[in-house]
Amino acid sequence: MSNVLVNTRDQLFVLFEQLGVEKLFEKEKFADVSKEVVLMLQTEAEKLAVNSLLPAYTIGDKEGCTFKDGKVSVPESFHDVYKKYVEAGWLCAMESPDVGGQGLPISVTTACSEFMFAANFPFLMYPGLTHGAARLIEMHGTEEQKNKYMYTMYAGKWGGTMCLTEPGAGSDVGALKTVAKRSPDGTFSITGTKIFISCGDHDLTENIIHPVLARIEGDPPGTAGISIFLVPKYRVNDDGTLGEFNDVRTGNVEHKMGIKGSATCTLNFGDEGKCIGELLGRERQGLRIMFDMMNEARLEVGMQSLGHATAAYEHAVHYAKERIQGHAIWEMKNPDAKAVPIIQHPDIRRKLLWMKVHVEGIRAMLYFTGFCMDMAKVSDTEKEREKWRGLVELLIPVCKAYSSEKAQWVCSTAIDVYGGYGYCSDYPVEQYFRDCKIASIYEGTNGIQCLDLVGRKLGARKGADVMNLFGEINETIMKTKQCEDIKRHAAYLEEAYNALIDLTMHFAQLGKSAGFLLPILNATPYMEIFGDVIIGHFLMQAADIAQEKLNDIYRSKNVGDSKGKKRALIHEDRDAAFYDGKVASAKFFAVEVLSTVKAQCEAIKFGERIPIEMADESFTY
Ligand SMILES: Cc1cc2nc3c(=O)[nH]c(=O)nc-3n(C[C@H](O)[C@H](O)[C@H](O)COP(=O)(O)OP(=O)(O)OC[C@H]3O[C@@H](n4cnc5c(N)ncnc54)[C@H](O)[C@@H]3O)c2cc1C
Repeated sequence: MSNVLVNTRDQLFVLFEQLGVEKLFEKEKFADVSKEVVLMLQTEAEKLAVNSLLPAYTIGDKEGCTFKDGKVSVPESFHDVYKKYVEAGWLCAMESPDVGGQGLPISVTTACSEFMFAANFPFLMYPGLTHGAARLIEMHGTEEQKNKYMYTMYAGKWGGTMCLTEPGAGSDVGALKTVAKRSPDGTFSITGTKIFISCGDHDLTENIIHPVLARIEGDPPGTAGISIFLVPKYRVNDDGTLGEFNDVRTGNVEHKMGIKGSATCTLNFGDEGKCIGELLGRERQGLRIMFDMMNEARLEVGMQSLGHATAAYEHAVHYAKERIQGHAIWEMKNPDAKAVPIIQHPDIRRKLLWMKVHVEGIRAMLYFTGFCMDMAKVSDTEKEREKWRGLVELLIPVCKAYSSEKAQWVCSTAIDVYGGYGYCSDYPVEQYFRDCKIASIYEGTNGIQCLDLVGRKLGARKGADVMNLFGEINETIMKTKQCEDIKRHAAYLEEAYNALIDLTMHFAQLGKSAGFLLPILNATPYMEIFGDVIIGHFLMQAADIAQEKLNDIYRSKNVGDSKGKKRALIHEDRDAAFYDGKVASAKFFAVEVLSTVKAQCEAIKFGERIPIEMADESFTY
């Protein structure tokens, strides 16, 4: 079995050759960061992931979480890993040194975290949620709340969660029933039940701070009446020591298909009327505040998807090179032909390439979104910062939904490459497939993300965000159409892009007329098309850069126009092989995926409403 989980060369390509993250290091905020620092961090992240997180991955799955006498225990091996992860400073690497962080750009920490996501995602949920909850307090808490909770959470001493879901309030958060009753001292008494709470209880930390959505008694129904409260498992004394139990009881731990090392809990708040919560931010702003945590969490779900997909892909390539089965197609009639590694079979090569292009495209999109977050912090003018913020808002649902949909197929295809062995737990790919599935469900189901894209994000700021994104894609088309080696493939990107714009305009024109149901009904296929065009843009942009570098290598080695010499060089020069692979990715994606986009757009414009109009009774006999 291979320990390679991530293509480190591609990471560096995206960061430095494609995005040009060095631009960030020129800004005062990131003045201490350099390429050398990034390389060092990348090495450290990979070491920790491979040496500590990875060995605990399969064991964590087999052992799962246990619930005994009202207490939850995580897999034993997670304790040591947690200690090492926190000590190495990864929990809040992107935060300012003022709060205990390392002040790194999000694009850089995103790249480093890819190793951890690929090595052991269920473990990573514990520090991930802790970071998210602490950051929420940093953004919206009072100085007192920061002193009381945030620093200790950033230091990894206390955990964090996010508590939205209830039995009757999943996608419809506004239906929640948890109540907050005012107490004379300004705190609130919290009563209610939250379900499916990731890391809701565990024994990795001595306390857990829950940001909880609830409605203050008398506030209006729906999302407008929701506030957010900080509810510790144990109350915190003025001197920072732990006080009384805060009446937050674990009712259950779910038995799940995957991510078994992550404790998914039912939490009962205030069964005995003794659960105290503190308001975070202003009253009735709860959902808006929680969105700040959810944007980060949704990018992380994208990273989870990338982590599973890259690990599944790297394993599949490794296996395909080793597994001997069948004869080469050109030896079909030779009874004495030797059996070959399955990577020699065209269908396996096509499967691997399909996986490769999606892994690379998703990687570029997620790192770019991290880069946009950085630029939103350090750009010089408010207009520029607004532009980058707008791109983040637009891309977040795509990072979450598109990545998780495609990652499932990458993991499923990895199982196909392994054949029967892939279906068995002796090999890791079946676990990637099981662990990956949840990504399409939590943090807002993919169905809801697609509605968010179509219903809110496309029209946000009068369409300025989507026009900015389209502008970036158009630039890539203009550039790659000039590149002799890829211009035929760039034409597919142009065709897909024009079809997407046409469909987007069509949706906009339907507006609030009776036809508004068409975008709602087709939000999911629209998201897929939108994602395909974005991925196509990143792959084509990468191919343009790679082709130029490849041509430089050919020139420096004097191979001239000889196809044979070029191929021989690619076999022996790793950089040449890498760049050749980047060009291949863009070409394959263009022909395999982008070529179908126009027809999909036309099909949506056809305006079929059958799924809405068909009677409920007709769905089954
Ligand atoms: C392992 C795991 C971990 C989780 N972790 C957390 C956590 O840490 N914190 C937390 O608060 N929650 C968490 N959740 C809950 C998760 O976010 C919800 O399951 C999810 O939001 C969907 O809610 P639901 O399960 O009630 O499904 P429902 O809301 O009942 O949805 C069922 C289906 O109907 C669709 N649907 C519902 N409403 C609409 C609509 N208006 N339009 C179109 N389609 C619609 C959905 O897309 C979905 O396909 C977790 C869940 C799991 C399984």
